[in-house]
Amino acid sequence: MRIGIDLGGTKIEGVALDAPGTERARRRVATPRDDYEATLRAIVDLVAALEAEAGTRGSVGVGMPGAISPATGRVKNANSTWLNGRLLKPDLESALGREVRLANDANCFAVSEARDGAAAGRRLVFGVIVGTGTGGGIAIDGHAWQGPNAIAGEWGHNPLPWPRIGEWPGPACYCGQHGCIETFLSGPGLARDAGGRSAEELAAATDVAAREALARHADRMARALASVLNLLDPDAIVLGGGLSNLAHLYEEVPRLWGRYAFSDRVDTPLLPPVHGDASGVRGAAWLWE
Ligand SMILES: [Zn+2]
Repeated sequence: MRIGIDLGGTKIEGVALDAPGTERARRRVATPRDDYEATLRAIVDLVAALEAEAGTRGSVGVGMPGAISPATGRVKNANSTWLNGRLLKPDLESALGREVRLANDANCFAVSEARDGAAAGRRLVFGVIVGTGTGGGIAIDGHAWQGPNAIAGEWGHNPLPWPRIGEWPGPACYCGQHGCIETFLSGPGLARDAGGRSAEELAAATDVAAREALARHADRMARALASVLNLLDPDAIVLGGGLSNLAHLYEEVPRLWGRYAFSDRVDTPLLPPVHGDASGVRGAAWLWE
């Protein structure tokens, strides 16, 4: 049995999959924000609860914000900033009494959708998680591509391309820069631009201000993803995270990104996730073959 854990900024979700990939158990708890020790305990308790429900011990894969630095073994780049600098892998391994595999949550998402999700069978898949933050991950032939710095796909911290007046230098980002793609595309970034209204509220609203905020957001996503098309030319791009529920993105963004991509036409599909919120946990479970 494979257990996948998705360590998110607001929730920790766990799933137990049997060999064919069928769910045997699933649980979700709130993330103990700003408390590393409590976060470790929450993961250990979640694994124990999943194993009790499934009735067997499993391998553990964890999708996490940021990455484990190949150079230091410590967490870096996590927007759940209380994880940064921590020895998460050995701490989890000693707490769980077994080897644990970890990967960036966007990489897990890309792997899940490339294996048996929206992009099943496609070779080079770019997965985007647009939620609390904005992350990107690359799956090649169903495997996460990490890179020597463990930053492959982290385009959310590139500057928003083709900036318009008023978009530069852009909002401050937790990474230390200004105007990162994340500060425009994420849920908090959209809300900041829309007078504090959430994505759900904007999608349900009919007023001009809400429509304009969603149109600005779609155009920014089109510019951001056009830079991915130019660099990677992936076989498919799959959206995940809370904002992947915005149905208009799948029409609007492909309608707009051709203006920016260096190509006479763009045939790349922009796809909603098949596994929805479960892609993170499923991809984490897939870290063990
Ligand atoms: Zn940034």
